[in-house]
Amino acid sequence: MAVLKNEFSWSFSRHKLCCECRRAYYYYYYASWEGWKKDSSELAQKTYRLKKMQNLDMWAGSLVHTLLQEILKNRSEKNVITYEQAITQAHTAMAVQWRQSQEQRWQESPKTYLNLFEHYYHKKVSQELIDRKVKKKVYESIKNFYDSGFLEYLDSLGQEQFLRIEEIDSFPFEKTKMYVVPDFALRDGSVKLYDWKTGRPNPDDTRQLSCYALYAHTKWQVPLEKVKVFPVYLALGIPGFDPWQEKIDTVELITFLRQSIRQMHALLLTGPGENKIDYAKCPRTENTRRCETCVFQEVCV
Ligand code: SF4
Repeated sequence: MAVLKNEFSWSFSRHKLCCECRRAYYYYYYASWEGWKKDSSELAQKTYRLKKMQNLDMWAGSLVHTLLQEILKNRSEKNVITYEQAITQAHTAMAVQWRQSQEQRWQESPKTYLNLFEHYYHKKVSQELIDRKVKKKVYESIKNFYDSGFLEYLDSLGQEQFLRIEEIDSFPFEKTKMYVVPDFALRDGSVKLYDWKTGRPNPDDTRQLSCYALYAHTKWQVPLEKVKVFPVYLALGIPGFDPWQEKIDTVELITFLRQSIRQMHALLLTGPGENKIDYAKCPRTENTRRCETCVFQEVCV
């Protein structure tokens, strides 16, 4: 079997973590490497387990993403999952995963089973909080999605207009492998990329979506002006889908990507080829509020 190598790569979430806390960046992208193996170091196993953890907000997002993926996959094959069936599936998934987290099934496989931050770190979780942060968000997102008319729009398209996207995909940028995870893509005049969001609009969204546009441009060889990216804020009840109107500033985007990659390279001992990090360059953040929600609290000293 081929030996996996911790290759240097870039993603928007990696950029964000690198900016927020160098120590968390070290744990997530370096210390946890091979932590899935039973014979790896204790730190590797522990940080691997911790990095798979999700808080309530992330969990709500992942429930919606998984469900929408299934609804869309079925719809593109002309199978209909009704709104009522979708709600039932969401309800069941929430109950099953919550119980699995409580029972610590993640000890068998942190990748397979949910490990909720709030359970792991013994946070007080009121029913009101779960209802607001998870149930309400998930159910409203599904309802808004069904009400948007998007599924009926898909029914009017031919099979060949659906573009295949892996769960995670990559494209080359200069000498770096760039990872992106757009949620759905189709071709209808232009290439349209959709990104489901269960949170509120964030200033970071513009850059993240610009990266997706660059991905589409490289993957399907379409001019950037022929790419449309749709951030869909599902939980906000936006009727219909508004295309992302902001113009992609290619020069700004390229400058940002180069700077971000340089910033990550500067933390390495020798260079991206070996991809060994210099721990001394990964101090803890001074923003202690960031630590309150950090999954690595247990190991961070
Ligand atoms: S606990 Fe704080 S300092 Fe430590 S890794 Fe997390 S965010 Fe960084």
